[in-house]
Amino acid sequence: MGTSGSDFSFKTPERRMDALAGIKRRDFLSFCALMSATLGLGPSFIPKIAEAIEKATRRPSVIWLHFAECTGDSEAFIRSTNPSIEELILNILSIDYHETIMAASGEAAEGALQKAMKDNKGKYIAVCEGAIPLGTPPGPNAKKGDYLTIAGKTGLELAKEVCRDAAAIMCVGNCASFGGVQAQYPNPTGAVGVEEATGIPTLKVPGCPHNVVNSVAVVVNFLLLGSLPKTDKLGRPLFAYGKRIHDHCLRRAHFDAGQFVEKFGDAGAKDRWCLYKMGCKGPQTYHNCPTVEYNDGTSWPVKAGHGCIGCSEPKFWDNMAPFYERLPNIKLPGVEASADQIGFTLVGAAAAGSAVHGAYTFLNRKKFDPTLKDKEE
Ligand code: SF4
Repeated sequence: MGTSGSDFSFKTPERRMDALAGIKRRDFLSFCALMSATLGLGPSFIPKIAEAIEKATRRPSVIWLHFAECTGDSEAFIRSTNPSIEELILNILSIDYHETIMAASGEAAEGALQKAMKDNKGKYIAVCEGAIPLGTPPGPNAKKGDYLTIAGKTGLELAKEVCRDAAAIMCVGNCASFGGVQAQYPNPTGAVGVEEATGIPTLKVPGCPHNVVNSVAVVVNFLLLGSLPKTDKLGRPLFAYGKRIHDHCLRRAHFDAGQFVEKFGDAGAKDRWCLYKMGCKGPQTYHNCPTVEYNDGTSWPVKAGHGCIGCSEPKFWDNMAPFYERLPNIKLPGVEASADQIGFTLVGAAAAGSAVHGAYTFLNRKKFDPTLKDKEE
């Protein structure tokens, strides 16, 4: 856990190079190659990404907020292994406040938050994890939002306070993005995503959990190009959510051939046939799981034999259930057109044919400059 002025801070390019020197060059370049591929850039960008990271004289300050969630996105963030992405992350970002992994507690933690906000006003990245309950609990003295309070503030009050002065707001996971499981019907706490709760536009990296490769790629995109990536209408970066899982699934040939798993463990399952009849929601879901995969590129649900449940889509706990039943009204086999149509009808409006959110929508002002060229101050 770093704080401004801690050992993790970099005041000069030399210090950054010293820190990166602790990482094997091969691992560093592998990381840059992964970022380049994830962002849809060619191999020629690998040295440019390396240069952008090495030359950055200050890592962007990050204030990471927890709301109603399971901490799965923080787990994803700190559990990456080989290459050591978390080590690289700590060289790219200055994590100045993170309730789960910070040593401080109580007033010291609150003090760290206030200091980080003050020292980096208008320049920090607010990372939000979890939904914000807007409901009022039962009880005589309860007020709106009291289902979640931190340091005496409701989740909504805290989110507004921190997001107001952020340069950019990134929601990680489905809960912060769209409400997640907390918002599932009947949604007793009135949970919603951060943007819906605060009215402040956010960049969203949904998933359950999100893929940390994508959230880091957002930051690398900024280091490289000085801007946040273009997004779809829902605020999801197009490099990660521009295509349906179904469009680049490793089982797609079996779908097209009408070869489907009929029961878990059957001969088709052993031959890795399409999981469509087992309830796979890949035709409705926009995410780059097939290309990036999880756990450092080890696997992802469909590769492991389980259908996609659509965890990067809004209200997937309601809209994608039952998870083990196939999409309705689709004729099999030869369903290509129908499946595509269904996908675009149900969620396609999120990405296809919609106006693209300007990436700068999420930049509150031009102050955010990780290269420390403080243009305004
Ligand atoms: S239905 Fe699912 S398993 Fe089958 S090709 Fe599409 S995404 Fe892959």
